[in-house]
Amino acid sequence: MQKLFIDGRWTEASGDETIPVIDPSTGQAFDHIARGTAADIDRAVRAAQSAQEGAWGKLSAAERGRTLLRMSDLIAARREELAAIEARDTGKPMATARTDIEVAARYFEFYGGAADKLQGEVVPFLRDYHVVVVREPHGVTGHIIPWNYPAQMVGRSLAPALAMGNAVVLKPAEDACLSTLKIADIALEAGMPAGALNVVTGLGEEAGTALSAHPGVSLLSFTGSPQVGALVQKAAAENCVKVVLELGGKSPQIVFADADLELALPVIVRAIVQNAGQTCTAGSRVLVQQEIYGDFVERLAARFSKVRVGSPQMNLDCGPLINKQQLERVTGYIRHAVDTKVGVLAKGLLADEAPSGGYFVEPTLFGPVPRDHRLAREEVFGPVLSVMPFTDEADAVQLANATDYGLLAAVWTRDGARQTRVAKRLRCGQVFINCYGAGGGVELPFGGVKKSGHGREKGFMALEEFSVPKTIVQFHGE
Ligand code: NAP
Ligand code: MG
Repeated sequence: MQKLFIDGRWTEASGDETIPVIDPSTGQAFDHIARGTAADIDRAVRAAQSAQEGAWGKLSAAERGRTLLRMSDLIAARREELAAIEARDTGKPMATARTDIEVAARYFEFYGGAADKLQGEVVPFLRDYHVVVVREPHGVTGHIIPWNYPAQMVGRSLAPALAMGNAVVLKPAEDACLSTLKIADIALEAGMPAGALNVVTGLGEEAGTALSAHPGVSLLSFTGSPQVGALVQKAAAENCVKVVLELGGKSPQIVFADADLELALPVIVRAIVQNAGQTCTAGSRVLVQQEIYGDFVERLAARFSKVRVGSPQMNLDCGPLINKQQLERVTGYIRHAVDTKVGVLAKGLLADEAPSGGYFVEPTLFGPVPRDHRLAREEVFGPVLSVMPFTDEADAVQLANATDYGLLAAVWTRDGARQTRVAKRLRCGQVFINCYGAGGGVELPFGGVKKSGHGREKGFMALEEFSVPKTIVQFHGE
């Protein structure tokens, strides 16, 4: 039974209800987490306020950085243990889980190192004045993360906030909290002052709502669906606080006739099967220039049909989906596409040795997907890839931009001028040229436009998001 982490201590929730922890490979519960309530969120926010005004807030930037660097070292040293926890909790292959833990450690390393590197400005002003702009913490920041990459999300969201001197309250997703709780333990071991980092597990509608609406929170960072993101933004608006929203995507891979297909094909398959397609940055649409469509689809289908699905220990390409609801949602999309006569070009295979009772789905490649079909526009959040032909560059750009989302895009072409031209016309937060970068990329500013959200995390830009500039104007006289 897992407890809440508030004010540097493991503590019971105020209610006595718990939430089972399910292994997605078997559908069986193997642990329980505490169901934190609004009262627990309130306790956590108060603890964070005290830490921010007290021990944590009094540390120098370099001392905060060192604390984060110690966390990074401890996370890295416990990679196997944390990866095993993450794999069991989320169903992802062990190899993916190991990478996730490495990336989590890297976030604490990057922001630990960056904590004392963001400098202020001196502004030229009237002759008898001296003006500086300094960056200060917001105070208490609230963080709500999803279940798909829990350890990575903890690093991405908390490390920059802590680096800038905020104290944080985190509500992880009820479906995958275990690695997050271990990282809280690591914070304790790394010597982080009590209250600087708090974790309240619980339900979105209960603990999540309470955190979004808490007047003691000065900034909210939310990663999840556009629907819930909008609710969080509304709650933040009531308190007039800033929100960083990292939401979904329907990211296109644009393949021109002159592309290096040997380079592109494995990357395109991986970008949709990684984490069983449950990645906000999944490359879920492949737009292919008409003249190579036939040949491309044949080669893509040959690779896609080799995708294998199984449990984390089997370490194949794909694990199960996270829960029953996700399984129903993804199989619903597949059924609808088949019912509406969209062609199935290839399917991956569930390994015979996969355990029974798991939330496994066969990865499916569809094409050509009509431009107005749900599969062409909606985020499936599963291993379902849509292929669509386009005629020329203008058509490709129009099609790429024709969804409500704008998170990532990839351009596959050998033509250098076209690479830049297309990259500039795409409406999204990151463009990859002859490569595709789902996950990782700690240094690279990341975020969306349109329904993919707003605000930026990763890189130095996250330090700007998680701090607030203050202009100090001094009259010093003649
Ligand atoms: P979700 O339902 O929006 O949940 C995300 C988080 O919000 C969870 O911690 C959830 O808690 C919490 N939550 C739910 N209802 C809430 C409410 N009313 N108020 C406050 N918090 C609430 O999303 P999901 O289904 O777990 O994740 C899938 C979505 O996340 C996809 O759309 C995906 O693209 C997006 N995503 C985006 C990124 C990115 O960086 N842009 C990364 C990963 C995922 P409970 O789960 O405990 O209810
Ligand atoms: Mg789980």
